[in-house]
Formats: sequence, C-alpha cells, structure tokens
Amino acid sequence: MEVVKTIADIKRLRIKLSEPVGFVPTMGYLHEGHLSLVRQAGAENQSLVVSIFVNPTQFGPREDFDRYPRDLKRDLALLEKEGVDLVFMPSVDEMYPPQFDSWVEVDKLTRRLEGASRPGHLRGVTTVVAKLFNIVQPTRAYFGQKDAQQAIVIKKMVADLNMNLEVVTLPTVREPDGLAMSSRNSYLSPEERQAATVLYRSLMLASGLWSKGERDAQKLRNEMVKLIKKEPLATIDYISIANPETLDELYEVKPPALVSLAVKIGSTRLIDNVVLG
Ligand code: AMP
Repeated sequence: MEVVKTIADIKRLRIKLSEPVGFVPTMGYLHEGHLSLVRQAGAENQSLVVSIFVNPTQFGPREDFDRYPRDLKRDLALLEKEGVDLVFMPSVDEMYPPQFDSWVEVDKLTRRLEGASRPGHLRGVTTVVAKLFNIVQPTRAYFGQKDAQQAIVIKKMVADLNMNLEVVTLPTVREPDGLAMSSRNSYLSPEERQAATVLYRSLMLASGLWSKGERDAQKLRNEMVKLIKKEPLATIDYISIANPETLDELYEVKPPALVSLAVKIGSTRLIDNVVLG
C-alpha cells in the first residue's frame, strides 16, 4: 500500500494500476461502514484507491471542520489490512489553492433535506468529489446509503456531466442497536449515545406502520415526531418521506419511498434513512 500526498504523485501511480480501478472517497476516522465500501470495491475491481480528505468546503462556518475526528495512523493500519493499493491524502492547500474559483453544483436535488439545512454543504461535496474523480479517474466509485441524498446527487452529477465512471451505493452499516455508524458518533456522551438510537427506532416505527398498510405520509411523519419528542436530548431538524429520485415530499407513500431524518442529539447532528418498498 502506498500513501500518496500530492496530486502529481497519485496521477503518476494511478496510471500504473491494473483496470478496473475501484475508488472510495472518505473523510477518515474509518469505521465498518467505510470498510464495507472498501471491501466491495476490492471485490469488484483489480485495483483499489481510497482517499482521506476532510473537505473544508462542505462544512458551514459554524460546523465542526476544526474538531472533526482524525486518526490517520489507525486509518492507514485498517486500510493496509484491506489490501488497498493507494491511499490519497491531499492537503487542503493543494486541493484549494488561493486562486481556486470553480464549483460543481447540482441544482434542484440539493434544495431539499441536507441542502436546505446546510447551505453550501452539497456544493462542497460535489465539487470535491468531481475533483477527486478527475484526479483518480476511477472505473467505479463507492458511496454509502447512509448519506442517501449525497449518493443521489453524485449520481446525478455523473450523469449530467457525462463523467466516465459508475457510481455504486451500498447499504448502511449499523451498530447492534441500530445506530448508523458515523465518525460523528464519537462526539456522543454515553447518555447521548443511548438517546441516539431514537433515529433508527423512529425509522423502524415508520417502516412497521407502512408494512401494516399505512399509506398516509403525514401520519408516518407525525408518528416519528411523537416518538422522537419523547427523547429529551433529541431535537428534530427534519423528517422527510420523499420520492428517492426527485426528493419531492410524498402525500401518499408509494414505494420506493425514502424516509430520512436529521436529528440533533445534544449538539451532535446525526442523519439516517431507510427505503420503503
Ligand atoms: P465520510 O467519511 O463520512 O465522508 O463517508 C465516506 C463514505 O462512507 C460515504 O460514501 C458515506 O456514505 C459512507 N458511509 C458513512 N457511514 C456509513 C455507514 N454507516 N454505512 C455505510 N456507508 C457509510
């Protein structure tokens, strides 16, 4: 495994890799969710590239860029075990030199959900992912369903801009009690960690009601709100039941429907989702 820090070096080494090349972009502080993407990318491709880059342009001014958890030594040891060929860890200065002035933006899909709550977040994501795709030139890139809107928006960017790769989305990896794995879970105190199960519990409540025949989306949202409000440490940002292609909110739940939510547990904002049908 080679650890590469400059764009010139990754381009030079990438040319020598055997095709097809699988790519997993991450912000590091790796957990089993990331590793599931790495393993699938390894199984489906001859070569494997992982990037670790905490991308400043996808964090808002009052968000957690500075304190985002980092543990490069541990990340590299985990990736070494997975048979990764190249780890790309660019510097912020090289990715965003002072004269940097180009942005990649997907329009309608980013007005909702995370886009509505975190202005500029998805523009930062699409810009960095487009840059990484141009630099790494992967055959396939792997993303987690955990960040459902991100995966949908990246697929749209790749289609609209005729980018020459396949985007693969893989299922959310969870803790035994259902909490979706996330680097941000490390912010939670033991009490908050317990409270954080309310996200998955509310998704399971909606999914259970849907299975029993409830088709009124507003009823499902209301039941989720009621459950989450019982948890004193939780504050709802949004709860959505939407068409997974357009992200338009649904009145009647017709499968497939994306049930997604963002909830603050204490000061930590967590997201999760399930697809019905
Ligand atoms: P991040 O490091 O948070 O930018 O995530 C890197 C990639 O890992 C993204 O495609 C995420 O959607 C994916 N990912 C994060 N958490 C999970 C999880 N619990 N299960 C599956 N994929 C995940």
